[in-house]
Amino acid sequence: MKRWNGWGREEYNYHFAPSAQAFVEKIVGKGIRIKDAELASVIKRVPKSRLPEHALFNNDAELRIRHSRGQSFPDWVALRYGNVDHFPDAVAVPASKEDIESILALAKKGNFNVIPYGGGTSVVGHINVDSGDTPTLTVDMEKYNQLLDLDAISNRATFGAGVRGPDMEDALAAHGFRFGHYPQSHEFSTLGGWVASRSVGTQCYYYGRIEQLFLGGSMHTPQGIFEMLPFSASAAGPDLRHFALGSEGRMGIISEATVRISPLPEFEHFYAVFFPDWESGFTALREMVQSRLDVSMLRLLDKFETETTLQLSGKEKLVNLADKGLRLIGMGEERCMMLFGITGLASGARSTLRQVQHIARQHHGFVEKWYIGKMWYDSRFTTPYLRNNLWECGYALDTLESVFPWSNVADVKDEVENALFSGLQEENENLIVFSHLSHMYTDGASLYVTYLFRRTADPQQTLERWKKLKKAASEVIVKHHGTISHQHGVGVDHRPYLPSEKGELGMQAMQNFYRTFDPQGLMNPDKLYLER
Ligand SMILES: Cc1cc2nc3c(=O)[nH]c(=O)nc-3n(C[C@H](O)[C@H](O)[C@H](O)COP(=O)(O)OP(=O)(O)OC[C@H]3O[C@@H](n4cnc5c(N)ncnc54)[C@H](O)[C@@H]3O)c2cc1C
Repeated sequence: MKRWNGWGREEYNYHFAPSAQAFVEKIVGKGIRIKDAELASVIKRVPKSRLPEHALFNNDAELRIRHSRGQSFPDWVALRYGNVDHFPDAVAVPASKEDIESILALAKKGNFNVIPYGGGTSVVGHINVDSGDTPTLTVDMEKYNQLLDLDAISNRATFGAGVRGPDMEDALAAHGFRFGHYPQSHEFSTLGGWVASRSVGTQCYYYGRIEQLFLGGSMHTPQGIFEMLPFSASAAGPDLRHFALGSEGRMGIISEATVRISPLPEFEHFYAVFFPDWESGFTALREMVQSRLDVSMLRLLDKFETETTLQLSGKEKLVNLADKGLRLIGMGEERCMMLFGITGLASGARSTLRQVQHIARQHHGFVEKWYIGKMWYDSRFTTPYLRNNLWECGYALDTLESVFPWSNVADVKDEVENALFSGLQEENENLIVFSHLSHMYTDGASLYVTYLFRRTADPQQTLERWKKLKKAASEVIVKHHGTISHQHGVGVDHRPYLPSEKGELGMQAMQNFYRTFDPQGLMNPDKLYLER
């Protein structure tokens, strides 16, 4: 079963080795273990539903708690300390287009808000209930999850939007295909959620971002069904699919989506390269990307993330051995690790590997072909479980991300990290901060920063610490004209920063557009922007 107040399945626990705990403690100090609120005590806080009884509405208190929050930092504080204060009045789980239509008709008539819900993995407050007086129905798309059509000649498939990552891949693999969209939340996040929040997968370099994979589909809006025909490409005016991509539930409910798929790859392998320092890794990475090497995934970790990743892996013996070996070949404290993947035809893979090795060697890189890339691949969806262990040991962790041109991404990285490092100076609190470049484009790279700090027994104080850090880092991003999100979306946490990139006219146009489909403003209010 899914945890109600943390990440992932209850049955799975990350192995947080004592050496990894000691590593964290040495840098930020001993964490205070604070007991989490019990589910039973939160159930007592759930008020009576304000929605009328209906066969499609379930107002069970536990179900309402489980749909009240996602995975953002404020969500974790609310759930773990047990001070959630807004809950959906009921949850509906439609199984057909007719159910969705009935729900929207009821919402229009009864004037209640509707929050489309995929996997609830949002990290920016996308699915949270607002504080207003209007009742709210959360619409969980979990039953709407089938493979509806597969065109094996055109490499296209249509799915119900509630399909989760692993189920989608299993259904396609049975026909020899793959979707290839792998956000780290893959285990729980859904096709509809990916489209509505413009998500990005780790292998987007090969398969493409969701906007390249999403061909069209059906969006049920309070004003009727908006059909997006699946064109391979079109020059017929503006591409209206882009209003569904990133709509964050404000426009309507996506019931079905047609996507590009790929044949299962003949070959796939992941590798690591060690560079003696950030500069050499960075230059090699840029060269690889700008030479358009045929890799499926590329990531460059800075020295702190390289060190932390190895330490937190819990594989003490292997890490010590690797450390000794790397030092012998001149990779000391400053070393940085790059991870890359090759996916596709076996014949092409050999030549790509040779090209990567060639560029890496020119920049004094050492390619490790056997263990570390595989370790990354095997643990890519389990590492998020570490957040549970850290939290329980008294540590709070969050991430932020943006994208910058190659010419300034390294400088912005330093500035964001400095803003975070100094964010809690007044309180004499140390942080662990590290970054990697996660998704590459020929003109730029996305920056993904992780920061870890101590929480306190007081939820408000813990939240205040996060707010200070988040604000300081976001201001640096905006100052350098970076987008407030390369992949996580806007929700409520990034909402204050959106006007600085869309401009006043842009914000107005967006609101007017969504109003066309939802004149009463019922759909997921207060996400992306506040109503004027
Ligand atoms: C551990 C972890 C790792 C993550 N890694 C990544 C990553 O690598 N890349 C990345 O891009 N993101 C990542 N995320 C963020 C999150 O997984 C994505 O934003 C994801 O796209 C959300 O999908 P979901 O199905 O969970 O949607 P939800 O969280 O349920 O909803 C997100 C938004 O989409 C809307 N929505 C959902 N379904 C529909 C629908 N059918 N119709 C209309 N609107 C809908 C909701 O109203 C909401 O506004 C991560 C999150 C976590 C917790």
